[in-house]
Amino acid sequence: MENGKEFRLLSFYKYVPVKNPAELQGTLLQYCMDEGIRGKIYVAEEGINGNISAPIEKARAFKQFLRSDERFSDVLFKEDDIENFVHPKMFVRIKKELVNLGLSKVSLANGGKRLSPEKLLDFYSSGKEFVIIDTRNTYESRIGHFKNALTPGMTNFREWEKVVDTLEDYKDKTVVTYCTGGIRCEKASAYMVERGFSDVYQLDGGIITYVKQLPDTVWEGGVFVFDDRKALEPNTREELKYTAACHHCLKPTAHYINCHNLDCDKIIVCCHNCTEEHQYCCSEDCKTAMRKRPKIYP
Ligand SMILES: [Zn+2]
Ligand SMILES: [Zn+2]
Repeated sequence: MENGKEFRLLSFYKYVPVKNPAELQGTLLQYCMDEGIRGKIYVAEEGINGNISAPIEKARAFKQFLRSDERFSDVLFKEDDIENFVHPKMFVRIKKELVNLGLSKVSLANGGKRLSPEKLLDFYSSGKEFVIIDTRNTYESRIGHFKNALTPGMTNFREWEKVVDTLEDYKDKTVVTYCTGGIRCEKASAYMVERGFSDVYQLDGGIITYVKQLPDTVWEGGVFVFDDRKALEPNTREELKYTAACHHCLKPTAHYINCHNLDCDKIIVCCHNCTEEHQYCCSEDCKTAMRKRPKIYP
């Protein structure tokens, strides 16, 4: 590879009935262990959601392998070239639901209309009146979000129902929901439609797809990701690079850590310097806590 990136990151999801999640779990785990693939895959009766890293050839073979199962023959992969594995190991876990909306059951058939990245940019540049809502958690939206987005400040996706209670004013407006890769919006937008919102869109392919196609436009800051890279920094325009400041020194950054005091474990925005200097902790108290993780790793 010319760019020196000989590994590939694949992320994918599909909502499709899986009758026997344990069987699928076994098959996937076996394949990935045999092939030396790393990452995390979740299997539920409602479908599959995965994020894996592997040498490019192995990643290609994995795509074929998954698509050879007819339930996943049309699964879409988001791909990124990377320099090395971005996961420490491989696991495949069974979940009750891929994303848990809480009490409500929605029909995915009611999901919002799919909005491509280009169309979303059109919405912005044409001056269209619309509301754009972040369906992710606070710690994700803090390091980056779409321009003028509502970031409701959830600690968990299960709070989405309560968030929607506060959005009544937008029932007759154009609403766009977005999340990292699209999986949460399928449910979040369906829930809004079922609650009577009249013009609901979901960003197709999520933030990941958007920033790849249209960096330096209306995405501001970093993108929180759930692998060792922690955050992507898609923009080169200085004023679009960061939306958050380091917890300790207030310098703009998209880097974050989990506080290494296990009884705290808070996610904080923290620049690289302060991460070292404060020993992966959010406060002096956490630094000297009994249950501080003994090992510091990058
Ligand atoms: Zn700092
Ligand atoms: Zn702490």
